Amino acid sequence: MKQKIIIAIDGHASCGKSTLARQLASKLGYIYVDSGAMYRAVTLYFLENGIDYRNKGQMLSALKNINISFQHNEKNEMPETLLNGKIVEKEIRSMKISAEVSPVSAIKEVREFLVAQQQQMGIHKGLTMDGRDIGTVVFPHAELKIFLTSNETIRAERRFIELHKKGIDATLEEVIHNLESRDYEDSHRVASPLFKAGDAIELDNTYLSEEQQLEFALNLVNEKISELEKIISE
Ligand code: C5P
Repeated sequence: MKQKIIIAIDGHASCGKSTLARQLASKLGYIYVDSGAMYRAVTLYFLENGIDYRNKGQMLSALKNINISFQHNEKNEMPETLLNGKIVEKEIRSMKISAEVSPVSAIKEVREFLVAQQQQMGIHKGLTMDGRDIGTVVFPHAELKIFLTSNETIRAERRFIELHKKGIDATLEEVIHNLESRDYEDSHRVASPLFKAGDAIELDNTYLSEEQQLEFALNLVNEKISELEKIISE
């Protein structure tokens, strides 16, 4: 049986991380985890339940009531997020959540709560996870780390089209503004800011199709697995 590895994919908002991580997982028979969906689900819980997350006591006791899980949607072949057993895939992608998620994910205790669960998901390896701190904090020893980049205008256009396909209302200006402010906040926070891990491989997908991006990443995976298998057999 082939050696299983952890693949960590990080990068700014909407640069195609989830698409790559999901396609890799499906090709390799790995588990795929969208860590951003977990921060979005916590944000949704806080908003729906009127939790003042700047109040530490209130925020900590709210975390105890949050259970996040994932399931596979057979119809569209896509993963979907559940918050306390309820499918919230559409709700967590709304502009309201996008506007509020960065301050929530800057809270140290929220990160500790989610990172512990993310690390647990990787104990048997065979996992791709995308986010902002996967290669730096969640899996600093991941066998393969990819840092995705993409031109800003193209990212905003891709996001705009994706939201409209999902039936979520937003203007292109709103999308651009949201991406800029999240990227700034996510890169400048104290707790686990977004940056490229020293041993991550940078992949600029501005001029790549999804197929080319996947092929590039699959080559990296195969190289890494061959390397590991060689070490093990020696
Ligand atoms: O990946 P996505 O854009 O859906 O993530 C939403 C937000 O969740 C990010 O803008 C960031 O604030 C937060 N996030 C994070 N750490 C991760 C994944 C997402 O802080 N590993």
